[in-house]
Amino acid sequence: MADKAYNPFEMAQAQFDNVADVLKIDEATRKLLRYNLREYHVSIPVRMDDGSVEIFRGFRVQHNDARGPAKGGIRFHPMETIDTVRALAMWMTWKCAVVDIPLGGAKGGVVCDPHNLSMRDQEQICRGWVRQLSKDMGPLNDIPAPDVMTSAQHMLWMLDEFETIHGQKFPGFITGKPVGMGGSLGRKEATGYGVIFTVRETLKELNIPPADTTASVQGFGNVAQYAIELYQQIWGKVICVSCWDQKDQTSYSFRKIDGIDLEELTSITDRFGGIDKKKAKEIGYEVLPGDAWIEQEVDILIPAALETQITKENVNKISYRVKIIAEGANGPTTPEADKVISERDIFMIPDLLANAGGVTCSYFEQVQSNMNYFWEKDEVLGKLDTKMTSAFAAVSELARNKKLYMRDAAYVIAIGRVAQACKDRGWV
Ligand code: GLU
Repeated sequence: MADKAYNPFEMAQAQFDNVADVLKIDEATRKLLRYNLREYHVSIPVRMDDGSVEIFRGFRVQHNDARGPAKGGIRFHPMETIDTVRALAMWMTWKCAVVDIPLGGAKGGVVCDPHNLSMRDQEQICRGWVRQLSKDMGPLNDIPAPDVMTSAQHMLWMLDEFETIHGQKFPGFITGKPVGMGGSLGRKEATGYGVIFTVRETLKELNIPPADTTASVQGFGNVAQYAIELYQQIWGKVICVSCWDQKDQTSYSFRKIDGIDLEELTSITDRFGGIDKKKAKEIGYEVLPGDAWIEQEVDILIPAALETQITKENVNKISYRVKIIAEGANGPTTPEADKVISERDIFMIPDLLANAGGVTCSYFEQVQSNMNYFWEKDEVLGKLDTKMTSAFAAVSELARNKKLYMRDAAYVIAIGRVAQACKDRGWV
């Protein structure tokens, strides 16, 4: 989870303050947007498999809903904190605004470690979280989705609990559901593919053929795996991935200079994205320290794990060959590191833009669920590509015209839209 030296919420507020100055946002709007509209802290009692009762802490934070119902994932993590969830909720507001979908921002979390919980215990946590929050969430005000260590199965349990409580079907209550149970084709690929749609557009702008590029990726979960899949389809070569090792409670990087084989690596990976070190060595991977992914001589870095991973301590290890950083994770770069990256003129594709594919596809899923009519996968991914490509074009055009860093340009567009919505509603 987040590096202890950084408070992600303070980081999110500092990013907001910078842009609020640029946009000359008035005092009342600043006060409104620097904080969350609503937040809920809940206790979830669960009778565990062994008969004992455990109380889990859970959160839901709704940052802003001026542009539409609040939207955002729920994470299961042993080190989850309210400030991380607050930051992530705020980032969701900007993310939905930058891709111009009619949704606000929210995030949820439960302090728990799914590595050590049976599926039955996890089901009870999902149901308990919904029971505590069912009055405050719903398809018309706040819609959850998967995030770190939660999956389509968790979403289905949550939906089932919500529908049981309310005595009716509400397929639009949650997204990231299993395909065939109200889920959208393409949802599981959407975040990772979206990252690569923006990388592809950046390479076009920089006039670099994807086949001439290499990448190094932090993380090997859902986002990383599908980003690698699409990047390889456009002929890019991934030479290094890093991931968390649950047994050793540390991370490792896995390197193959002639390019990793995605299928081979996923076949020795657990459901949390942990790669088996011994087997990896046997099939020809170098196993290096966790931070090695950031030092690789590649053209593209894709942090796709957790927040606050590129810091002032490791930013100077980034090779001078790196031209692009695409943030698959939310908040992977601390403000100090971001300053160094911007001064080095690395093309930054910021999180709110790079990883917006997930929530964009969630929006498509809601639309399909509400119509009860589901599109073919090509249609979903085609619409996703169009949305991501046009959001990218708007941000990079603003960055070029106003000589802004890409992150600042994305924020200017996003915060401008949300501030305008608050004003139009007469809130400020
Ligand atoms: N958890 C994803 C994100 O951080 C998706 C959120 C959603 O689909 O609502 O963007």
